Amino acid sequence: RVKTKWAGSLPKYPPTNLALQHFDATYKLQLGREWPSVRASMLCEQKYGALVNNFATTEGFMAHLQSQGCQDFVSCTVREGAQERLQTAASTHGNTSSLESVVDDQDIVPSGLSPNIKCLVFPRGDISRFKPSRPDKYGLLGYYLMDAASILPALALDVQEGHTVLDLCAAPGGKALALLQTQAIRVYQIYMRYEPFTSLQFCPINYSVKLLFLMWFLFVKYCFSGFLCVNDISASRTLRLRRVLDRYVPKGLLAGDKLRITSFDGRKWGEIERDTFDRVLVDVPCTTDRHSVMEEENNIFNRARTKERQRLPQLQLELLLAGIQAACPGGVVLYSTCSLSQLQNWYVVDRAIHLAREELGISLQVADLRPLTQLFKDTFNFAPDLNLGQLVLPHLTANFGPIYMCKLQRLN
Ligand code: SAM
Repeated sequence: RVKTKWAGSLPKYPPTNLALQHFDATYKLQLGREWPSVRASMLCEQKYGALVNNFATTEGFMAHLQSQGCQDFVSCTVREGAQERLQTAASTHGNTSSLESVVDDQDIVPSGLSPNIKCLVFPRGDISRFKPSRPDKYGLLGYYLMDAASILPALALDVQEGHTVLDLCAAPGGKALALLQTQAIRVYQIYMRYEPFTSLQFCPINYSVKLLFLMWFLFVKYCFSGFLCVNDISASRTLRLRRVLDRYVPKGLLAGDKLRITSFDGRKWGEIERDTFDRVLVDVPCTTDRHSVMEEENNIFNRARTKERQRLPQLQLELLLAGIQAACPGGVVLYSTCSLSQLQNWYVVDRAIHLAREELGISLQVADLRPLTQLFKDTFNFAPDLNLGQLVLPHLTANFGPIYMCKLQRLN
């Protein structure tokens, strides 16, 4: 019998097996009859979405992807919903013409959802893959590939023009990039349409230099009306985050004072900068369930990392409490994980609400995310009847997630 060379170096208990055993024991109880289907989906290839980069020139690749059957799940669903509302109103009032403004593109995104986030996906059941994005003529990539369900926390955070936003655990930067899309589009697209570098070749040099300066100034000053702070404790992952931003965001914005990149322990944020941000995203480290059953490398179920894994709910709780303190009164905090675990999801939120009230004197209201799940129910498979928050369950025909999210509003 020939013994393969690598057999000796294989771990006795591969972390992926340990993860599956652990999930079988806990999620069978938690999800009941849903678990076999969720399990099979997590062991199959994950489905991606292409987050559209509004900073890049998007027309060419958008048309190409749409011709392949992709659709922006955000605007398509929202538009269909608005059309349904129009039809219902028409059948009630018997006249559509006066109601057509209901489906006006200006107010197509319902309140409570961040505007300008676009994410292309292949239809339900279609498992085609996206090709990697290519740079446009300014060197910016047109789309970022990520689990489309990861867009939902950024959408639900409801970032509006002029908001100050903190992304407490931001690397490698998918959700930060989605948050950046919310405020950037209008002025930047005007800037792009002028195409200063091509049109200026016919201008006298001193005039073109002046105009370039003026545009640069206007661009840096106005293209992003809010302020975004992206933070991650890990220096190497913060470097990765910087590289992502370099490839998607114009240099003017990266160098300006509207975007801050930091590498602090997020648990300390409440002490550093409290009562400050309109919106806080707390996308915590977790057991990353899909990764844990598929990849041996960097797997939290590795035996050497048992203690780290067991400490996760405490770390998540501390991060959420820091995020709550960092938000201003009236501000919104969105907690999210990519795990199915009740212990890391609603239990952490429940405990944080209790501790915030008892120890920090902060009252929180849980926002109802059912309108959002209702809106996107054809794209994602949501878990029914959760106590607190919403959960995207992987499904073979819509293999996104798992993503858990809960939205909290500070009342004082
Ligand atoms: N939001 C990111 C995205 O969309 O690309 C993913 C974040 S990932 C789930 C969790 C991140 O939390 C990791 O990058 C990890 O380095 C970071 N992290 C872990 N402990 C932290 C802490 N105490 N403070 C801040 N960040 C932390």
